[in-house]
Amino acid sequence: MRAAVLTAPREVTVVNDWPEPQCGPGDVVVSITATGICGTDLAYVQGQRDIAPGGLIVGHEPFGTIVAVGAEVDRGRIGQRVAIEPNYPCGACQPCGRGVPSLCTKRRSPVVNEQGFLAERVAVPADFAWPLPESITDEDAACIEPLAVAMGAVRRAGDLSQRPRIAITGAGSIGRILTDLLVRRGIVPAVIDISSERVERAVAMGARAAEPGEHFDLIFESSGAAPAAEAAVELLDAMGMLVVIGVGNDAFAVDMKTLVRRGITIIGSMIYDHPHDYAEVIRTVESGFAHPGVVLGPSYALHDAAAALLHAGASADKTWIRISGGEPREHD
Ligand SMILES: [Zn+2]
Ligand SMILES: [Zn+2]
Repeated sequence: MRAAVLTAPREVTVVNDWPEPQCGPGDVVVSITATGICGTDLAYVQGQRDIAPGGLIVGHEPFGTIVAVGAEVDRGRIGQRVAIEPNYPCGACQPCGRGVPSLCTKRRSPVVNEQGFLAERVAVPADFAWPLPESITDEDAACIEPLAVAMGAVRRAGDLSQRPRIAITGAGSIGRILTDLLVRRGIVPAVIDISSERVERAVAMGARAAEPGEHFDLIFESSGAAPAAEAAVELLDAMGMLVVIGVGNDAFAVDMKTLVRRGITIIGSMIYDHPHDYAEVIRTVESGFAHPGVVLGPSYALHDAAAALLHAGASADKTWIRISGGEPREHD
């Protein structure tokens, strides 16, 4: 089958002879319609993370159609349109036992420790292939995963009405999906980004640019840049909370006086917890309370995967790649 394989940093080859997936008894095989591309994928493309010998298939924000099922799975699911929750916790380690599978120590995580989804067919555990109503557009379907990341962060922030002045640092895909989510709840978040183009896009979605000297009760840090996290702490008022979503490589320094005297809380927000978060995310999109697909640019075709992956870092739009079904639009 066809697949786009990363063989070295910035080296992407579309092959025709990638092996078909092995469907385990509890798995389903999904014919992938499209997958979104995010910063995690680009860290491999750009050489910031190591690529296993034999090559890596990136892309971990997929949806598609079930074309085969394992012996333990209801055959009635064949033909079902599904969004794939691309992290499979073990269910047995200490965090899993405490009901926080997002922190699983033995998590199977496509792209990070197994092959991803820029391939025609992929086998996934049946419970992680979520039925996707036909009313959800392909664009929204391709952004279910980053929406789950954003909604996980909002859930962990607790009661937003207790922290009414809200800012988002980083107006990339996650920052703008978060913007969409908050605006639909009647909140106007202030957005901070080093790119004025990205800020303008968030403003067009209903956010506003942060004012100089303004302080906040709650800041979502989505950029992954240590200087942004450092600056965010200083923008918090008494009892403020920083929710860190972005995963950068660098440490950030916190002034202990600021931390203690303002009673600040800093929490890390790691993806989403199976199964409740994905169920909630799909319900939210189905009911029209989020349209994460607004952050996408035009789709690329699989045969253009190299161009898509090499240009994704410089694009203000989120990149996505169609593997089957639908006509990708032309790119300049
Ligand atoms: Zn991602
Ligand atoms: Zn576990």
